[in-house]
Amino acid sequence: MVTASPAPVASPVLGFDASAHSVDDPDSIWVVVNKARPMVPQDYEPADLETVEGASGTRLRAEAAAALAGLRDAARAADADFAMSTGFRDRDLQGSLYTTYVERSGQVRADRYSARPGFSEHQTGLSVDVHAGGCDLQSCFAVTPAGRFLAEHAWEHGFIVRYPEGKEDVTGYIFEPWHLRYVGTELAAEMRARGVATLEEFFGLDPAPDYS
Ligand SMILES: [Zn+2]
Repeated sequence: MVTASPAPVASPVLGFDASAHSVDDPDSIWVVVNKARPMVPQDYEPADLETVEGASGTRLRAEAAAALAGLRDAARAADADFAMSTGFRDRDLQGSLYTTYVERSGQVRADRYSARPGFSEHQTGLSVDVHAGGCDLQSCFAVTPAGRFLAEHAWEHGFIVRYPEGKEDVTGYIFEPWHLRYVGTELAAEMRARGVATLEEFFGLDPAPDYS
């Protein structure tokens, strides 16, 4: 019997290993959380949270916090500085935020920009929302110097813009130019080189436009 094996995908980044980290383990820098992939366990909290330099209320996992400091230095040097708002959010905080958004926008609209508790990438400690130029959680951030800089250079520091434009049917979220996700420089560079914008598409995971 002849078994067909999948054609190897050419890797533009020398030595890139797509199985180097888990997409399921909540402690993995490649964990994929979306509307079809809740946090497991639901009360997950990273053990290595650190306060982000220059933002007393923002906590990220140590590796992501260090990378963000480097990214921000680079942005400053390019006259594209930004400030940080939320990094890690626990399940309870996400729950109260989501409730507020549902009251404000109704559930259908709220689900397009806010995660239900236990489904937020912010709970991984690898995601951070940034703002600049008076654009806080607004699409206008994309055209600020900071927004343009991040779209072009975040990958160099291991971050991706996790909810890109035109990918709501894959990620389940509207374009969020302010929401950065740390994945490490190897994966960020590989995604950039292959021109793959979402984690779902990169890892061949099901699209997650809605909760099941
Ligand atoms: Zn966010």
